[in-house]
Amino acid sequence: MEKSGLSGAAFLSEQTEGLAEPHGSPSLAVAVERSMRNNRKITKAIPQWESWREQAYAIKRDAIARLPELLEQLERNITARGATVLYARDAAEANQYMLDIAKEHQVKTVVKAKSMVSEEMELNHVFARNGIESLETDLGEYLVQLTGKRPTHIVTPALHLSAAEVGRLFAEKLGEPYTDKHETLTAIARKHLREKFIHADMGVSGANFGIADTGSLCLIENEGNIGLSISVPKVHVALMGIEKVIPKLAQLPLFLNLLPRNGTGQKLTSYAHLVHGATPGRKFYLIIIDNGRSKVLHDREVGGRPLFCIRCGGCMNACPVYRRAGGWAYGWVYPGPIGAILSPHLLGIDVAGALPFASSLCGACAEVCPVKIDIPHELVHLRHRAVTEPSPKKSLIEKAMWTGYAMIMAPEWRYRLAMKGLKLGMPIVKCLPYHPWYLGAWTRGRTLPKVPRTPQEGSFRAWWKKHYMEFESAKS
Ligand code: SF4
Repeated sequence: MEKSGLSGAAFLSEQTEGLAEPHGSPSLAVAVERSMRNNRKITKAIPQWESWREQAYAIKRDAIARLPELLEQLERNITARGATVLYARDAAEANQYMLDIAKEHQVKTVVKAKSMVSEEMELNHVFARNGIESLETDLGEYLVQLTGKRPTHIVTPALHLSAAEVGRLFAEKLGEPYTDKHETLTAIARKHLREKFIHADMGVSGANFGIADTGSLCLIENEGNIGLSISVPKVHVALMGIEKVIPKLAQLPLFLNLLPRNGTGQKLTSYAHLVHGATPGRKFYLIIIDNGRSKVLHDREVGGRPLFCIRCGGCMNACPVYRRAGGWAYGWVYPGPIGAILSPHLLGIDVAGALPFASSLCGACAEVCPVKIDIPHELVHLRHRAVTEPSPKKSLIEKAMWTGYAMIMAPEWRYRLAMKGLKLGMPIVKCLPYHPWYLGAWTRGRTLPKVPRTPQEGSFRAWWKKHYMEFESAKS
């Protein structure tokens, strides 16, 4: 995993390259704005939308509170219909299961439906290292796989690519004549993928929901690639995070209504598959993965809320920071507001502690979230943890600086004295190297403000003193 790639500095500068650039077709910002417009239109037309959100919140809160019981129920029911259920503590264990299953069934080729958990596992790389060809079959994921980069969005992974860029990609990687016509591009992808479905030894999918009372998995999609991935090869492996379980099949329609409306602005997805177990002559495995999720449950302040997420992607579309920075800036699988609250839990606050600061706390994400996660509240809590929890990555000098800063800012007389001292010392500070190592990531994304040498240059305090009387008289 690219855990080491995550840092405040990376978020601020290194991985944002190209995403804010204007493209031939709509840029990322324009594309997410269009999604948001569709979402607003479609959700405003439903008078009971708020009531649906309340119900979804209540169901997820109940499900997360009863996770062990519900997972056991799901396992019991789906095993009774021929499925093999395996539990993986982390990505390494899940990958080992995948390799064992592949070995048992002599798998050489895999067709993969979109699965964010498989991104956490870096499954394609693991397969490649072990001589297994693994092909993404979701169109967006297929494009991203051809570019060799990560998805930029959890619902629309290739949102950053224009049709012209896809045309050039197909010409370069598949030897197809260049075109930027959407229908032709889709037909090219279909032609190359269809052949692979027919000959694949194993299909891998994620799971949108695990349903405890019937022992079923629900997978939703628009392209038909999931249907082919889970039904054509002789072996199907579904990867599911522990948080995906809901208690009852009767609750599923609520989520099928919420998720696509909030994600892509559709009333429903084109297909919703229910998998109840293994079909005759085929093998079906369900791998249920923790990979850091139970750490969310151990944080009492959080109450498991980041695990309510149903991965609709709505918070990304609404977030002004995501729109400018794009998905790669978040350094790992989950971008945008949900990434900023999920990654610090899954990877550790010392690895991803910078992400909760990548927000203006405007609250747009919480307003759109269909399961009512109070994301700004979670961000503030994680910020507190990031600055208070000990970490070997925190520079001692940086810590000493902030302690000193807090001491100076507390009483007014110390602040005034410090400002006078700063004016005198500024020429020395300006002589220091631009990126002093002892200040860590703090200075890599910031420049020093200009400190006014005289009141005439315009310090706020001087300005306030001058205008104080005017304010007072205006008030009275
Ligand atoms: S946090 Fe809410 S809005 Fe964001 S992806 Fe998850 S469910 Fe959707």
